[in-house]
Amino acid sequence: MSVIDLDVVEDHERFRAELASIAPDGKRKWIYARKQTGKFYTLRTILSWFLLAFLLFSPFVKVGGHQFLLFNFLDWQFVFFGIPFWPSDFYFVALMFLTAVVTIVVFTSTLGRIWCGWLCPQTIFMEMVFRKIEWLIDGPPKEQARRDAGPWNWDRIWHYGLKVFIFFAISFVIANTFLSYIVSSDKLLLYIVDGPLAHIDLFIGLVFFTFVFFMVFFRFREQACVIACPYGRYMSALVDEKTIAVTYDFKRGEGRAKWTRDDTAAKKAAAGSAYKRPDNNGDCVDCFQCVTVCPTGIDIRNGIQMDCVNCTACIDACDEVMDKVGLPRGLIRYTSQAAVEKGSTSWFTPRIAAYMSVWAVLVIAVAAMFFMRSTVEVNILRQEGTTWVTTTQGLGNVYRMEIVNKSSDPLNYTIRVSEPQAAKIIPLGMPGNVAAQSAIKGRFIVSMPKSSITSSSMKLTIHVEGNGKHLRDIHTSFLSP
Ligand code: SF4
Ligand code: SF4
Repeated sequence: MSVIDLDVVEDHERFRAELASIAPDGKRKWIYARKQTGKFYTLRTILSWFLLAFLLFSPFVKVGGHQFLLFNFLDWQFVFFGIPFWPSDFYFVALMFLTAVVTIVVFTSTLGRIWCGWLCPQTIFMEMVFRKIEWLIDGPPKEQARRDAGPWNWDRIWHYGLKVFIFFAISFVIANTFLSYIVSSDKLLLYIVDGPLAHIDLFIGLVFFTFVFFMVFFRFREQACVIACPYGRYMSALVDEKTIAVTYDFKRGEGRAKWTRDDTAAKKAAAGSAYKRPDNNGDCVDCFQCVTVCPTGIDIRNGIQMDCVNCTACIDACDEVMDKVGLPRGLIRYTSQAAVEKGSTSWFTPRIAAYMSVWAVLVIAVAAMFFMRSTVEVNILRQEGTTWVTTTQGLGNVYRMEIVNKSSDPLNYTIRVSEPQAAKIIPLGMPGNVAAQSAIKGRFIVSMPKSSITSSSMKLTIHVEGNGKHLRDIHTSFLSP
């Protein structure tokens, strides 16, 4: 592994060797992001309300008696949009997760980290919940920095204490919400009624995850995106010069220079016609507003960087500046590197075509598996470790049976041996029907008169019917001496 010598890195290239939030001595550089306003921020705020409402309330929405979404990895129970999936649907569920991953790959390679900026729970909670609370309690960035650098006086203590209390309370709500997606909202409510002592192990886990969420949003913050998140890491392998992302138009913006009185005068003289700044200056007025709003502390003017979560805050900040000086908006905008450099707006490359082909195949496979998915599963196997037993009729073999009813209606089933017809079934404590969305297990003996036994391993066909309809013919064997 090569080590970058920071002493020989040019100043304008240092961003490639350093993280904006880590000082050269390795200490954390705290990011005090400025509050932004603007078109994209408003859209993101509205979207965040919907997403937060969905996240918080969807565990309480029931479809056909099932939670709308359930991801019970512990007992391998999944419900998607009210449709339950069973352990026997393992391949189907795995394929759905794979399709979800490939969907993100397709989106990332065409639209960059649109997931990070607009949809990721980390960004939404950090920027739309915790950051806003912080601004309310601690004030603007300068005030926050001043307080943090000052002594532990009463002013700093109560601000800090209030923030810790509110952040921890919200983290507790988040931990409970995620728990309701895993154990179900019904069980969660039951646990709340029972009290923490009745489920102490679960409560300890809940407090632990509350603490984890608290630390993520109180201290770790943007580090989750720039260091910890694996998606952020592999994003660099998915984007190229044609990927549409938050991009600085360096052709228009460089050489950057402060806005001067000469600019104002020249702008006035141009009186609405095409205007070019004096001294061959670019449109960037070097105001650093795009940097002060950035939640990861980077300067987008350095080009596309892995630390950029595409939150669009710099677009809004720069548009505001452009409005003030009277230059066209869009110096920072959603576009691609190729569009800025060569004017090419095409995003459809052979790589994208390949990703989309894989994605289309997966979507078709998932849809086909869904429609072909059987609503009833029947498994009959001979009882392990047994050969034959003596029955009043002659000889018998013991079998195990499992019926899974994935439908929303109860299932009345019957089983009989269709071949050879002399064989009879003797149930061993098998339930008579299977309730909706449930499974039963039981055992039975197939008994055969000795006169009908023609070989030591005879073929046997068991006919299963459900609600009067033929379900399965199960082929197995019958052993005898
Ligand atoms: S560079 Fe712009 S889009 Fe990227 S994280 Fe910073 S503010 Fe958000
Ligand atoms: S906000 Fe716009 S004008 Fe100001 S420094 Fe950033 S890119 Fe340049």
